[in-house]
Amino acid sequence: MANYPISGACQCGKVTYELLAPPKLVVACHCKECQKLSTSAFSITAMVDLADLKISGDLSEWSRMADSGNRSAAKFCSTCGNRIYHFDPANPTAIKLKPSNLTDTSIIQPVAHIWVSEKQEWYQIPEGVKTFDKQPS
Ligand SMILES: [Zn+2]
Ligand SMILES: [Zn+2]
Repeated sequence: MANYPISGACQCGKVTYELLAPPKLVVACHCKECQKLSTSAFSITAMVDLADLKISGDLSEWSRMADSGNRSAAKFCSTCGNRIYHFDPANPTAIKLKPSNLTDTSIIQPVAHIWVSEKQEWYQIPEGVKTFDKQPS
């Protein structure tokens, strides 16, 4: 079992944070936006409460409309651009942490893979996880 808090930092180290409690849910998203974001086949999101995250450093913000019609806002390091978390401005206390910045990445075990309709052919979904063609409702 992981010991909390777990610290995290962006690539340049100017943004640091502590995750105080286990995420509620970890998912892998294979949508094209997440492929761009991760420069890989999918991105990983850990659902956490804003209260369980202590962040310090200078964050910039950008947002876009999501497929759901909700706005998806992103916080990233102002210096190196590394993505820290996403959130819906209409529900700003539910944080979608991009957890690859944590020092202990053993907690990053997606239990669901979403947007598998846009998945890269060569990536095989592990057994025993839930899959969704698009965004689960
Ligand atoms: Zn940085
Ligand atoms: Zn996605």
